[in-house]
Amino acid sequence: MPDAPSLPTLSRQRAWIGGAPYPSADGRGFETLNPATNQPLCHVEIAGEPEVEAAVAAAEAGFAVWSAMGGTARGRVLKRAAEILRARTRELSVLETLDTGKPIAEAQSVDVASGADCLEYYGGLAATLHGEHVDLGAAWNHSFFYTRREPLGVCTGIGAWNYPIQIACWKAAPALACGNAMVFKPAELTPLTATKLAEVFKEAGLPDGAFNVVHGFAETGRLLTRHPRIAKVSLTGEVGTGKKVMADAAGSLKQVTLELGGKSPLLVFADADLDNAVSAALMANFFTQGEICSNGTRVFVEESARDAFLDKLVARTQAMRIGDPMDPATHVGALISREHRDKVLGYIEAGRAEGARLLCGGEIPDDPALAEGNFVTPAIFDGCTDDMKIVHDEIFGPVLSVLTFGSEDEAIARANATPYGLAAGVFTRDLARAHRAVARLQAGTCWINNYNLTPIEMPFGGVKQSGIGRENGRAAIEHYSQLKSVYVEMGDVDCPY
Ligand code: NDP
Repeated sequence: MPDAPSLPTLSRQRAWIGGAPYPSADGRGFETLNPATNQPLCHVEIAGEPEVEAAVAAAEAGFAVWSAMGGTARGRVLKRAAEILRARTRELSVLETLDTGKPIAEAQSVDVASGADCLEYYGGLAATLHGEHVDLGAAWNHSFFYTRREPLGVCTGIGAWNYPIQIACWKAAPALACGNAMVFKPAELTPLTATKLAEVFKEAGLPDGAFNVVHGFAETGRLLTRHPRIAKVSLTGEVGTGKKVMADAAGSLKQVTLELGGKSPLLVFADADLDNAVSAALMANFFTQGEICSNGTRVFVEESARDAFLDKLVARTQAMRIGDPMDPATHVGALISREHRDKVLGYIEAGRAEGARLLCGGEIPDDPALAEGNFVTPAIFDGCTDDMKIVHDEIFGPVLSVLTFGSEDEAIARANATPYGLAAGVFTRDLARAHRAVARLQAGTCWINNYNLTPIEMPFGGVKQSGIGRENGRAAIEHYSQLKSVYVEMGDVDCPY
């Protein structure tokens, strides 16, 4: 591997509660590893019941202060946090790359940037959140009602490991803009940047307790999702986890937002600009080593365009550079863990066994400098059928399946034949067809002539088993606030008794 840039010395990761690091009562913990080397990065303390109780109590105290501040003041804090995050981009990107194995170029330009955009966006919205006034007219003595848009209280955010700081920001920013407090649990595989975000919030002027971080595994998550004084849970994770979280949240009727997995289709019609379609297929499969929930891993190509599309796709995939995630020239980094790498390799083996043709990749790279990490070269399978494991299971790795279709109806029916419904893409120069197709695709987020772009202004989320609720855009405000209706009588009480 090339010489790594000077790497930070990482201190023990503790919970962050009430505006400061919070040591665990029993000292239980685990080592977190660098996916590129499998060397330990630091020790992480697990939050058990005492720490979760402390975090909820701190959040209640933080909520009292934060929710009493006006929207403009809250927005100022969030916008200041965005500036601080941007100023610390390099440091946070290095941490994110060490933690996730993703290329540093991505961490800088996407992960931290998207987190900062999110804080800035909701910082701008905070002052605009309000209810409405409705006059009921002369027949009602001009009685009226108004609605108050109120925060929910203490919310919890539980993150996946693929976009740690982005996920933390996507949950914290709208929650805080609405006046809520949050207890956030990052995935145990990527615990490093959530605490940094807490530090950023403190520096920006967020009251202590309004944003807390606890570390740990599913058990820590369960303590949050079952906690009677937490009003809402927002989870990013697998479908199976979503079902468990929803069941646990039901015990106290918590509101839930679920951002879950997918096996999304990308439809390429023969009239499409094929270079753009190939660019999108690469972005839809190999960004972050394929560890993206919305990835378009089922690439349906109209039969007549198949050969031209595949030639371009394979040539450009083979030119991608796999290597040290800290090298700014690297395109493909390391998968999150050895266990996950083996799972991805297992799918590649299953694809071969089921008769799909592996056109390139799907191997452990032979560079000895990468031998200790969890690397797999980007794989393209041709000759796939809808019933293959690689086509219907979410792999969450760099594995692209090419399928061909004859008609628009066929493509849409096959694209929809999945329990997932997170995302979909359509490439065509025929705009009427593009809009017709997206109207029929069962997916929460669709792209026409692009893929995987998630501007913060655009609501993001899934349908069917890919999720409930939306993140980003104004839509997220609905999921972090509640309306109170207040009727005001202007006349006498009309009473028949
Ligand atoms: P998991 O579902 O395994 O974990 C997600 C989070 O939930 C982790 O913090 C995990 O803790 C925690 N958790 C696990 N079990 C429970 C439980 N019973 N109660 C409460 N919390 C629990 O997902 P991954 O981290 O493996 O992430 C990959 C998945 O996330 C993929 O399916 C991907 O599609 C999806 N995802 C969805 C996105 C979307 O926006 N729709 C975006 C990104 C990813 P721990 O890991 O510490 O054990």
